[in-house]
Amino acid sequence: TFTPSAALSRVKPSPTMAATQAARDLKAAGRDIISLGAGEPDFDTPEFVKEAAIAAIRDGKTKYTAVDGIAELKQAIVAKFKRDNDLSYETSQITVAPGGKAVLYNALVATLNPGDEVIIPAPYWVSYPDMVLLTGGKPVIVSAGADTNFKLTAEALERAITPNTKWFIFNSPSNPTGAAYSREEIKALTDVLLRHPHVWVLSDDMYEHIVYDGFEFTTPAQVEPSLYDRTLTVNGASKAYAMTGWRIGFAGGPAPLIKAMAKVMSQSTSNPCSISQYASVAALNGDQSFLAERNQAFKERRDLVVDMLNDAERIECATPEGAFYVYPSCAGTIGKKTPEGVVIESDETFTSELLKTEGVAAVFGAAFGLSPFFRVSYAAASEELRDACSRIQRFTASLT
Ligand code: PLP
Repeated sequence: TFTPSAALSRVKPSPTMAATQAARDLKAAGRDIISLGAGEPDFDTPEFVKEAAIAAIRDGKTKYTAVDGIAELKQAIVAKFKRDNDLSYETSQITVAPGGKAVLYNALVATLNPGDEVIIPAPYWVSYPDMVLLTGGKPVIVSAGADTNFKLTAEALERAITPNTKWFIFNSPSNPTGAAYSREEIKALTDVLLRHPHVWVLSDDMYEHIVYDGFEFTTPAQVEPSLYDRTLTVNGASKAYAMTGWRIGFAGGPAPLIKAMAKVMSQSTSNPCSISQYASVAALNGDQSFLAERNQAFKERRDLVVDMLNDAERIECATPEGAFYVYPSCAGTIGKKTPEGVVIESDETFTSELLKTEGVAAVFGAAFGLSPFFRVSYAAASEELRDACSRIQRFTASLT
């Protein structure tokens, strides 16, 4: 009989993927389903990026590469960190892996020993706690709720730090809330970290380029240069360049850490896809003006969704600074009954009943460690979003 490892037994499958699959199954069965569960831009990969990939194939750049990235891509990443984040790295401080997910996983595998603690603000991206568990560490979940606009306070961070803390995982703009920390808000956290020199910072900046209303994106190593020697600044091509399927993530950090992460890859995935690496060189070095155009479209959709959800009875929705998610509260629906007589006991019943009765797929908040909320991805056409929000309005109005 098959027996999974003890490490795997600590972990659950990704709940966002499960929710997306449930919607897919209903759609395949002929139901009219609007899926707002996906964590990827609905835009296409830019044409000039695709052309670079096609050229790479034609030029035979289709073999193994250096384990943690080709020199051209590392140079493009060095330039990107300088240009966007005022961070200076040598190429020996840069790593490239198959997706931001792999960068994070390599960092945790390379550093965690049993009992090492990793501070994760909740709501969190679903993979952080499970990745920590899989790699033998201990997730320490710290609540950052609606009362602080889903942002961790300095006091809460201070309280969570122990002598066993290895990493603090920081994610701004956030998946699932879209909340992004201002320079001052980051400074409040880095001031705490300065007092605890054994704590390293893993900054997940995947949504850096998706911010609205003139928001100024900053990252911990930039705000507090004294943390440079213990910060891994993670980013990637997936969200900014609509390249989720290409699997390119990257990071800048201290050379010994970067070298340790390359060792992990050399014995696991080897290099990221050669073709995707050449495409990413084009993405990073090319004209970035399409980012602003896409953000304008995202911003209009955010405003549409926030307005329509706040017009729904029993729903409250904050206006986030970035990413393409909103994280409304469904607290007002808890204890109410659907016309079929089902009692909404949790955000999980809320989203499953919403899917069943109105065909709208969203992800329940418990999956991200903060209830009762649900995540809506607005990376979809405005017409579809309008339809979905009308259905949510009809659903919450039908509760008694
Ligand atoms: N970090 C966050 C916060 C994300 O939302 C995601 C993707 O959903 C990732 C990392 C992983 O990105 P990638 O697709 O490049 O592995």
